[in-house]
Amino acid sequence: MKTLYSQLPAIDSLLRDPALQPLLAQTGTAFTTHQLRAMQQEAREHIQQHQTLPAWHANWPQEALRRAARQQQSALRPVFNLTGTVLHTNLGRAQLSDRAIEAVVNCLRQPVTLEYALDEAARGHRDNAVSALLCELTGAEAACIVNNNAAAVLLMLAALAPGREVIVSRGELVEIGGAFRIPDVMRQAGCTLVEVGTTNRTHLKDYRAAIAENSGLLMKVHTSNYQIQGFTHAVTEAELVELGEAYQLPVITDLGSGSLIDMTGFGLPAEPMPQQLIAAGVSLVSFSGDKLLGGPQAGIIIGKKALIEQLQSHPLKRALRVDKMTLAALEATLQLYRQPETLREALPTLRLLTRCSQDILQQAERVMPPLAQRYSADFSLAIAACSSQIGSGSLPVERIPSYAITFTPRDGRGSHLNHLSQRWRSLARPVIGRIQEGKLWLDLRCLDDETALIQALVA
Ligand SMILES: *Cc1c(COP(=O)(O)O)cnc(C)c1O
Repeated sequence: MKTLYSQLPAIDSLLRDPALQPLLAQTGTAFTTHQLRAMQQEAREHIQQHQTLPAWHANWPQEALRRAARQQQSALRPVFNLTGTVLHTNLGRAQLSDRAIEAVVNCLRQPVTLEYALDEAARGHRDNAVSALLCELTGAEAACIVNNNAAAVLLMLAALAPGREVIVSRGELVEIGGAFRIPDVMRQAGCTLVEVGTTNRTHLKDYRAAIAENSGLLMKVHTSNYQIQGFTHAVTEAELVELGEAYQLPVITDLGSGSLIDMTGFGLPAEPMPQQLIAAGVSLVSFSGDKLLGGPQAGIIIGKKALIEQLQSHPLKRALRVDKMTLAALEATLQLYRQPETLREALPTLRLLTRCSQDILQQAERVMPPLAQRYSADFSLAIAACSSQIGSGSLPVERIPSYAITFTPRDGRGSHLNHLSQRWRSLARPVIGRIQEGKLWLDLRCLDDETALIQALVA
């Protein structure tokens, strides 16, 4: 064993190895030395455990280069999202429009008037530009932008009802992925939750009966990631607004996704629109920037001027505010909504959601033959109808017809599917599908670059 240890090369001599010079030039001595030390340590452990040298001992410089290349890859790897979920939270939700991407790059390369009012040569407010656009598009009086919709809900509660009771229907106490639960947010904001009604039915009289001296807000939460069907009743925003007015209580709505355009016009299921709630008199409405809106991660709050001012002056706003990249991307995204007739082309989220299934089928027919040639020894390939989903809790029950290429192991062994999906996940640009019913499914709804996909899977 001693002799095995003595075969490990010295760091000094490796650093002089001509094969390592490109790596040294690229990453410097400190990084390369650190890397070689880690390899030495790993080799020692390998000898101790297996009484052999690791396989890569044959070529240390090559192994060092391989490891360095892997470590220099960004942790945010571009992937092919063939999961069938368009707004996939784990894959970064909305893909931004070209306009939004340009706007971000532009605001990064030079100083910008983030909080600077050119007319008065004085301090401006960072939310101004986006607020004006939001008011134009929704009819709201004012707007406030924070880091995400969870932050928006927290800020609305903390600023408007600290130490007071907030009345919510039992059927709307939702949990969104990532441990965002309305009761917990309520506690964090220093509010007391008052649940009214039952899981399936809540009436206006339930809210009325709960109103007491310490009531601060009436709140509605859009049950975006589930649906209660059957014997149900919920109170509309308009009814709640009337009740709120009688008792001078603001009504706030966490809309979750929210869409600024009528989705049914694009053949998609209806989703509540923030402007409808503003028209119904709701005091504040919050929704996400990177769900159906198709923009950057952000929490958007629109509504009554006096209440928005309360949010803007609350200390939490400073902690939850967004940076110039987000504002630039959000402004550019919202500008696209001024021209609804070109929105489908300009906004990737909408383009992907509205791709017609015939188009996807034709694409599947083009993509399948080269894949079949490569994989048909071990798998039988087929084109199968499937259904995509919007994702991010939007319209959870509704599915959009799509087509997938499916891979079924010829010997029926499920382990082959795991193996295949693992191999695809280790590609330079990983391919992410889903395993279901003994098949690996590649839903092509979100496939933009089919040539790149074929190259990746066939190489
Ligand atoms: C998605 C969602 C949230 C959280 O929004 P983020 O932007 O992800 O923070 C909150 N409430 C509802 C109803 C949602 O659908």
